[in-house]
Amino acid sequence: MVNSRSRRTFLQAAATIAAARSLSAQNTAQNSQESIKLAIFNRDRKWLALESEATLERTFQIDTPLGKSPVVRQLRYQGTPFYYIPRYGDAGSGEITRLFDETFPGERLVQIWVTFMQLGVNYVIHGNIIGGVHPDLSLNDLVIVDDFIDLKPNHPQSITPYFYKGKPLELWPEAGVRMFPVMCPVARRALYDKALLHHFAKVKLGGTLIQTRSARWETPAEIRMLRLLGADVACTLDASSIVYAKQAGIHFATGQYIMNFGEGSRPMEAATTSESGFERIATSMRKTLLDTLKALPSGPPKCDCFRPRA
Ligand SMILES: [Zn+2]
Repeated sequence: MVNSRSRRTFLQAAATIAAARSLSAQNTAQNSQESIKLAIFNRDRKWLALESEATLERTFQIDTPLGKSPVVRQLRYQGTPFYYIPRYGDAGSGEITRLFDETFPGERLVQIWVTFMQLGVNYVIHGNIIGGVHPDLSLNDLVIVDDFIDLKPNHPQSITPYFYKGKPLELWPEAGVRMFPVMCPVARRALYDKALLHHFAKVKLGGTLIQTRSARWETPAEIRMLRLLGADVACTLDASSIVYAKQAGIHFATGQYIMNFGEGSRPMEAATTSESGFERIATSMRKTLLDTLKALPSGPPKCDCFRPRA
């Protein structure tokens, strides 16, 4: 039930996002004659090897409120154009190439999401390889999560000030956003639909991701705690992306592929999936992400991703 006051608030918020996006679109128009609304983001460009199936059309940088953006790749897959940014830049590029290059925790994620906002994309589809916590999950299984718990204390709480700094105050969105639905149900369904075509192990629609600290994995006691809290998978960065996508007004979905078991939960198993397992995950993720882009609606989907606050 949406009352008239909240409806007005919702319309104001929608107008705010549209105005900000218009500014972005003007910037983007300098770089592209074509309106591109889709993007892929993942941890490792060479491992995912999108260019083995999609055509690289150009690489470029844009001006953002943070300065020059990371290098953006514009690719085309079976007629569908999209942008791609990896979690880290290439060695020697001058970009942040690893966690320890950051001047503050989460800096690279902030750069990436500000760039997606400046590009004016509607959708970002993401994949990662992470740790399994739920005992029913095994190596190589895929979880298309629909919720998260954030236990990371040190990433910026909001992408908003990084993008809107210097813009008129009336363009800034409200400080707090609703987080339910946590991720885009339309994009998640598309990801699930395509994963069933390409993945070789279990595909689970729905699950809870818990984000823990960077630069180390969890202890056995922490994994036991995460199970009690209802975690299916554990990772160190991806909940921040879910938050930033929501604050950015971008429809977001992520596929989490299990590369190992939570520490202590399966002590006699090998530490990670096999080398051929990693190769098959790369192929599955690549084909799934590309086919998901093709399946998304051409405009924003009919979802409730950005619900009014009251
Ligand atoms: Zn959505």
